Amino acid sequence: MIMKIHRAYQFRLYPTKEQEVIIRKTFRCTRFVYNYCLDLKKKNNYLTKFDLMKELPKLKKEYPFLKEIDSCSLQNAITDLMVGFRLFEKGHGGYPKFKKKGVKESFRTSFITSSYKGTIYENIKLDLKRRIIELPKIKEIKIRGYRNLDKISGRILNATIREVGTRFYVSVCVEEEIKLPERKNNQAVGIDIGVKNLVVTSNKEYYGNPRYLEKYEKKIKRFQQELSRKIKGSKNYIKCKKKLEEVYRKLKNARKKTVEEIVAKIIALHDIIIAENLQVKKMLEHKNNHKHLRKEITNATFSEIIRVLKYKCNWLNKIFIQVNPYYASSQICSGCGNKESIMKDIRVREYKCSKCGLEIERDYNASLNILKEGLRCYNN
Ligand SMILES: [Zn+2]
Repeated sequence: MIMKIHRAYQFRLYPTKEQEVIIRKTFRCTRFVYNYCLDLKKKNNYLTKFDLMKELPKLKKEYPFLKEIDSCSLQNAITDLMVGFRLFEKGHGGYPKFKKKGVKESFRTSFITSSYKGTIYENIKLDLKRRIIELPKIKEIKIRGYRNLDKISGRILNATIREVGTRFYVSVCVEEEIKLPERKNNQAVGIDIGVKNLVVTSNKEYYGNPRYLEKYEKKIKRFQQELSRKIKGSKNYIKCKKKLEEVYRKLKNARKKTVEEIVAKIIALHDIIIAENLQVKKMLEHKNNHKHLRKEITNATFSEIIRVLKYKCNWLNKIFIQVNPYYASSQICSGCGNKESIMKDIRVREYKCSKCGLEIERDYNASLNILKEGLRCYNN
């Protein structure tokens, strides 16, 4: 069976001084268009994407500097704004805000082909042998990443250029066709995702919560405090903000690596993976006076586990099932099914059943319940 998937390849960019100037100019122009259109939308919410797109030629006439950069990225700024509005209307996000200078700077350009006198032109070209990407208006930029790859097989859809901390990155989104592998064994596993151990499986495998998360948490806290003492928008403020972004970037990379390793191990052994839907669980676990930052970091790690499980299962032809946490995996005895009425403090690691006397590690017990519940849903 063949399936089409979207995959993102992220490379670090090494622009020359001149290229950096163009990249920054593009950040500025896309931000300008975004904010301009947001302002229009605020005054008249009935404006459609089409209405806003029609503003572009007028804007270019009035502000000729907009003509100096890639025009796709200007259109995409409007598309992104409209996506923001759609999400807001569906209740999935806040009302779109004005973009600020120096905060999460990025722009996206789309892949376009054209032919002229029999020759086909492409506006984005990725040459992994030469380690170069060609982007509209910016031309060839040196890249680094995916050392063992000398070609990507798919069709490029778009490229997003970002400044993170003091570095530039390009994320190339590609549509690839993959062949789904055969399922091996139909083995199912229940996994409990938690704070003490990131993952505990119904096969009694424990994947701990690595210490680096704490290390980064301390650093982030320090920079956040430093930032709060600086004048908003000042040079020092922006500098500090960049340092903070840099720590977040490192944390994100480290987290991604850990999660991918754990998921790879789980998936290699099983065909059916069952986890809890974490929306509710997140809130339950953090009731015990955890601080905001810890909560944010832990939740991001939990979401990452689910995200990676979802797409890996999809790509590798595995079955991923999420069960509703309302049935209380940590309150039920995996031996006899008895449900303890009192929710035990998260710090008590041992589950003791008052009916059958089973004593079992709390998260392991939960993973067994998750497995059972998942298989029940699957077989129904
Ligand atoms: Zn029991």
